[in-house]
Amino acid sequence: MLFGTHFRYPWLVATAVIVHACFFYAIVAPSCGWLVAVATRFRPKGSEVWLTIDDGPDGEASLRLSEEMSRRGVQATFFVKGRNLQRQPEVGAALVAAGHSLANHTQTHPAHLFWWLRPGPLRHEIDACNEALRSAGVSVIRWFRSPVGLKNIFLEPTLLRRGMRYVGWSVRGKDGVTCNPDDVARRVRSNVSPGAIVLLHEGRERSNEAILRVIDELRERGYSFVIPADEQLV
Ligand SMILES: [Zn+2]
Repeated sequence: MLFGTHFRYPWLVATAVIVHACFFYAIVAPSCGWLVAVATRFRPKGSEVWLTIDDGPDGEASLRLSEEMSRRGVQATFFVKGRNLQRQPEVGAALVAAGHSLANHTQTHPAHLFWWLRPGPLRHEIDACNEALRSAGVSVIRWFRSPVGLKNIFLEPTLLRRGMRYVGWSVRGKDGVTCNPDDVARRVRSNVSPGAIVLLHEGRERSNEAILRVIDELRERGYSFVIPADEQLV
């Protein structure tokens, strides 16, 4: 009978509802920095954007993508799943050799449970992926992005202890579930501006087509692609 006539403390219920709503928002809102500081943009030196590509590496498809990007003189940061990278460290090494950077997107990509992970499993998700990155030849590991941008109350101290920073995004192609290159390119070009962090994905049926389409359209509009320094992130 929480809301019954005998309930004398409606303010308690209201407070509990507000606190839970705030906690829920802090966990699921990708740009919310209440639980961990989130970089959502960078200070550009011109018409620059940072292309970030999640969920790889994806074997031959990643190598073909990298080849096409090299032809265009474009570098990006690949937020990789440690488990994928362990299976194909040579692909990760090829991406690094082509001038791209690799960053941590957890070991197993626990998309539904990330917010609920206790400190031990959370550390494992981050450390195992870092280990896979080191095995692929990445010497400096600076950046982390969680599955679907979810937060976790233990995340900030865990990242700080490892000298890592949480990177979100400012523009996304919404290509994580379905990937129609027309829709992806339209979403990005309508929302992009200098200093934007653009989020795209690998591993879907038309991922390479969508990524290259975004690159070509932004280049036509005068944008260049950079991997910013830590100090540029905001
Ligand atoms: Zn992901």
